[in-house]
Amino acid sequence: MSSYIVATSGLTQSEGVHLVYLVASVLFILGLKQLSSPKGARKGNITAAVGMIIALITGLIGLHPSSGRVILMVVGVVIGLLVGTLSARKVKMTAMPQMVAAFNGVGGGAAALVSVEEYMRLVAHSSQGVVFVITVVFSVVVGCISFAGSVIAFTKLQEWMTGRPITYPGQQAVNGVIVVAILAIGIYLVGFGTSVALVVILLAIALFLGVAFVLPIGGADMPVVISMLNAFTGLAVAATGFVLGNTVLIVGGTLVGASGTLLTKMMGDSMGRSLGNVLFAAVGKAAPGAGASAAGSAEGRSVRSGTSDDIGVMLAYSQKVIIVPGYGLAVAQAQHVAKELASALEKRGVDVAYAIHPVAGRMPGHMNVLLAEADVPYEQLKEMDEINDQFKLADAVLIVGANDVVNPAARSDASSPIYGMPILNADEAKNIIFMKRSMRPGFAGVDNELMFDPKTIMLFGDAKDSLTKLVASVKAA
Ligand code: NDP
Repeated sequence: MSSYIVATSGLTQSEGVHLVYLVASVLFILGLKQLSSPKGARKGNITAAVGMIIALITGLIGLHPSSGRVILMVVGVVIGLLVGTLSARKVKMTAMPQMVAAFNGVGGGAAALVSVEEYMRLVAHSSQGVVFVITVVFSVVVGCISFAGSVIAFTKLQEWMTGRPITYPGQQAVNGVIVVAILAIGIYLVGFGTSVALVVILLAIALFLGVAFVLPIGGADMPVVISMLNAFTGLAVAATGFVLGNTVLIVGGTLVGASGTLLTKMMGDSMGRSLGNVLFAAVGKAAPGAGASAAGSAEGRSVRSGTSDDIGVMLAYSQKVIIVPGYGLAVAQAQHVAKELASALEKRGVDVAYAIHPVAGRMPGHMNVLLAEADVPYEQLKEMDEINDQFKLADAVLIVGANDVVNPAARSDASSPIYGMPILNADEAKNIIFMKRSMRPGFAGVDNELMFDPKTIMLFGDAKDSLTKLVASVKAA
């Protein structure tokens, strides 16, 4: 494309490349805009992917044919395409956060390595300006933290290591010393001397910091950390763009950096937690005796459990039913049968809506994606703020594999790890149907008093099985 523009427009090769990169950048921005609504999300992915293909091809054409790098790059592109396509097809929706962590991590690592390589290449010939060295140092440090941190996040989420925070006395002080060492090396490289060896040492220490930084964070907070590391990768890539003088990397990296930062903030707000609390409070660490007391508070107390026949009849004769989907809906892959139940109820004139908590499931937008897959109309998906006043008017709330997002401890128990998290007002409905397999807690590991509420009926079992039985009993009612 750039060669065609050069041949027909009288622009120089470099101007042609910049023009094509501008087109790719505009496609990234348009894609991001389309991603902001579920309706446009599929188009947004395609638009951004077209921008990426244009940028890739232009990058390949821009290489000198004799440099030997073309073959390397083509091999890299083919491997990347294969790995990306296979993992996107195979990965389960519930494992999406791990996949994002893995892809995000390699982006950060690649940005760091490219900057090191460029530093080695250029300082061998001449001394480089301050801005160049600052961007190299920034890209190496931030890219390595993102890479190593993402590896630990992946390992925790994949349950290859404990998801609990790993802490030891003086941990923050040790991390502080590592930060000081990084700053000292960075300042030396920028202000006092050129040293490839020091850049490599910087790379190693930053990798260590990435590991040390994520180890004390609990598995429940990993999606927020991944979003933050995603922003880090974006910034590292943008810095590498400055190192290489590549505009599309600068724009693409800045977009990822900005959107990752916003997403991190929004996720923290939805969980009622500050970023500092997520990063440094080691939430999820077992306090001495905590496990026993948590189990004890659920044990020995009775709950009211019901049958799908009784609950089906109650739903069938309701006027308004609100469905609260959660992580268990995704595990059970029950989205299609949830839609079937909603349709059966609507046929009987019941008003049905879905209440979507911003952090239900295990990744932002998790419930929206699942329910969109089952063709649930967007108008029925109600955000928390939009629907919270409606619960008191509902004859029944159907909590399908959700737990933390309806746990009243978030409002009332200042010692609870989820205290302060805005929740769905499911407790205000006239009847509460809790669908899960057991009395086990949700992701935050805390008991839920709502299960003991006199208005609550537990419907134990896999969400898909229970919903299938409910559909049958609603149809028979
Ligand atoms: P929870 O993790 O609180 O609860 C899910 C419930 O689903 C469990 O209690 C489990 O109970 C039940 N369950 C699991 N499998 C099945 C199944 N097959 N059938 C029926 N039930 C099942 O989920 P929520 O969606 O309510 O809350 C999300 C949590 O994740 C919050 O703590 C949130 O802060 C956290 N989080 C979410 C992020 C996001 O972006 N969405 C990011 C970071 C954290 P049982 O085992 O008894 O069946």
